[in-house]
Amino acid sequence: MTSQSTANIPTPDQIRRAPKVLLHDHLDGGLRPGTIVDIARETGYDRLPESDPDKLGLWFREAADSGSLERYLETFSHTVAVMQTRDALVRVARECAEDLAEDGVVYAEVRYAPEQHLEGGLSLEEVVEAVNEGFREGEQLARESGHRIRVGALLTAMRHAARALEIAELANRYRDLPGGGVVGFDIAGAEAGFPPTRHLDAFEYLKRENNHFTIHAGEAFGLPSIWQALQWCGADRLGHGVRIIDDIEVADDGSVRLGRLAAYVRDKRIPLELCPSSNLQTGAAASYAEHPIGLLRRLHFRATVNTDNRLMSGTSMSREFEHLVDAFGYTLDDMQWFSVNAMKSAFIPFDERLAMINDVVKPGYAELKSEWLFQ
Ligand SMILES: [Zn+2]
Repeated sequence: MTSQSTANIPTPDQIRRAPKVLLHDHLDGGLRPGTIVDIARETGYDRLPESDPDKLGLWFREAADSGSLERYLETFSHTVAVMQTRDALVRVARECAEDLAEDGVVYAEVRYAPEQHLEGGLSLEEVVEAVNEGFREGEQLARESGHRIRVGALLTAMRHAARALEIAELANRYRDLPGGGVVGFDIAGAEAGFPPTRHLDAFEYLKRENNHFTIHAGEAFGLPSIWQALQWCGADRLGHGVRIIDDIEVADDGSVRLGRLAAYVRDKRIPLELCPSSNLQTGAAASYAEHPIGLLRRLHFRATVNTDNRLMSGTSMSREFEHLVDAFGYTLDDMQWFSVNAMKSAFIPFDERLAMINDVVKPGYAELKSEWLFQ
C-alpha cells in the first residue's frame, strides 16, 4: 500500500491536472511554432530561420539557451514580426488561452507591449481589442473542450522607450470590461541602464487611478532595481525579483539573516513572480536545485511559479512544476501553496480571487490528494 506522503509527490499527469495560476507570461514569448510559420507565410514575412515548425521550435530554444543576448533578442524580433495584424493577434491570444487551459492553468495574467504591434498600421486601441477578443475566444474554446480558464491582460511598456505614461493610460481605459479585460500594467526590457524611476510619471498616474502594476526588477540586475521598483515606483508585485536572495545570508549552521529590503519584501507579502527555467537560460541561476525558489519557499516569501516565455524556454506551467518537484521533492501541498499564493496576488478583485481559491484551486488539489485512497 502506498503511504500518503509518497502519494502526495505528484506524477506528471497529476501536475498537469492540478489547477495552476500563472502571473508572468509574455504573449510574444508563447506562440506555437506552427502558428509563426503560418502567419509568416500569410503576411509575406521571409526572415524566419526555419520553415519547419519542429525545427523552428528547436531553433527558438537553442537561441535562448546560447548565452548570447543578441540571439535571445532575435527570437522576439521574429515573434513580434508575425503579430502585426488584427487576425494574427486574435489567433495568437486565442491559442495562448487554449494552450494554458490544456496545461491545467485556471487563471492567467498574460502581458504584452501594445507599442510593439503597430508596424502593420494598427492603433494601440486596435491591438488591445484584438488581444482581448482572442483571449475571450480561447476561454470559450477551452470551455467547450472541458477546461476552465480566465485570462487577464497586462499592458507592458518598454523600459528603453518613452511611452510608459501613454500605455498606462491605455491600461486604465481598458480595465473593468465585462468578461475580463486589462487587469494591470508592467514595464519590461533591459534593466541595466534603464531604471524603473525613468517612468515615475506612469506609476504615479496609475496610483492616482487606484490601478495595479508589476515591474520587471531583480532579474539580472540586483537589489537597487528591486528597491527602486518598490520604494520609488510603488510596484504591487515584482516581475522575477529573484535577486532578493542577495539580501539574505545563510550561515553554515543553517540560520538565516534577512537584510532590511528582503525583510520588507517578506513582511509586506510582496509577490515574487519567479520564473525558474527562464532564469537558468539567462544565467540568473545555475540549476533548478540551486534556484533561490527553494530557500524563498522555505522562508515563506510570497513566491509564485511562472513560465515567462514558454516558446523560448520550451516550457509550460506543468514543466516548471515537474522541475521543482524533481529538485525539491515538492508535494501537491507545495503546489497548492504556490497556486494559492499566485491567486492571492492576482490583480482581479478580492472577492473573485477568494472565489477562485475556495471554489477552484483548493477543491482541485483536494480531489488530487484523495486519489491515493482509491488505488
Ligand atoms: Zn518577463
